[in-house]
Amino acid sequence: MIFTEEVCQLLSDAGMASWATLLPRQIEQALSADRHGDLGRWQYLLQQLPDIRSDDIDLQADRVRVGCAQETNETVRRDIYQTLRALQPWRKGPYELFGIHIDTEWRSDWKWQRLSQHVQPLAGRKVLDVGCGNGYHAWRMAGEGAGLVIGIDPSLLFLTQFTAIRHFMAEPPNVHFLPLGIESVPSGLGAFDTVFSMGILYHRRSPMDHLFDLKGCLRLGGELVLETLVVEGDENTVLVPEGRYAKMRNVWFIPSVPALVNWLQRCGYRNVRVVDVTPTSTQEQRRSDWMAFESLADFLDPEDHGLTVEGYPAPVRATILATA
Ligand code: SAH
Repeated sequence: MIFTEEVCQLLSDAGMASWATLLPRQIEQALSADRHGDLGRWQYLLQQLPDIRSDDIDLQADRVRVGCAQETNETVRRDIYQTLRALQPWRKGPYELFGIHIDTEWRSDWKWQRLSQHVQPLAGRKVLDVGCGNGYHAWRMAGEGAGLVIGIDPSLLFLTQFTAIRHFMAEPPNVHFLPLGIESVPSGLGAFDTVFSMGILYHRRSPMDHLFDLKGCLRLGGELVLETLVVEGDENTVLVPEGRYAKMRNVWFIPSVPALVNWLQRCGYRNVRVVDVTPTSTQEQRRSDWMAFESLADFLDPEDHGLTVEGYPAPVRATILATA
């Protein structure tokens, strides 16, 4: 699932030898932890994927696409479909594989549309996507010409989904998924040109440390793309939910936009600017044919979609750019 040797070489070449040295052990530990005991089943499913590759890929389309229906027959498509179905829930996307549309819980393309135009052009850049989900945005970064994209996410299901997508690419771009958390990235790497942290900050118990960790991954002058939940308010407004927020157990800090700008400046970022603030709609995050569980509509007050079921302000997300 992971070409560890190849990634080690890529990291070394990109000035990250200190990480390359640690990586084989980190990967081994991550895979052996197999918290759900599902990895064996997922690996088996990956082996069931039909042995077909396409060089017809589109990473600039909103539906990240590999192959088209004409390259296959119905039997092959049925086999692909059944294996992909067995890898549910599909949260981030959408994708299209040989004509099969994976309609994911999230329209992750909407987030990409909101921010990609503002980001420093990615062509040739070394990019880190922290908490990359199944890699949807990482493929889109490659679609913009990034030289190297490293996506990290501790979820082994998301690793499996990523691997399934890549399986069908005759010549996959330089995009690699490592099943690791941000805490596995050595501090002070100073090597990436762009670092994305999207949908992560509010899950961190120490948001300032997260901002410092991200800065440590960037070279001087590199760009941080931060996307996170925000609330209305001034520099001193931060919501710390008493319990759950929108039924999520692990939400710690939701700052206002001015507070977030202040945090970034305190952490030593320069040129901090807000490029987007958008409420999350029940069209952007919803139950779908590929994600059968509860989704945003179930997390909001049925009488008032401006509030979560707990009575907090409903999710609004901001994207902020900053220079290390
Ligand atoms: N960046 C994607 C996904 C956000 S969801 C997007 O914006 O659409 C948050 C992701 O963070 C999940 O996929 C989760 O598995 C991952 N995650 C959880 N703990 C993490 C950690 N310690 N380091 C990095 N990612 C983590």
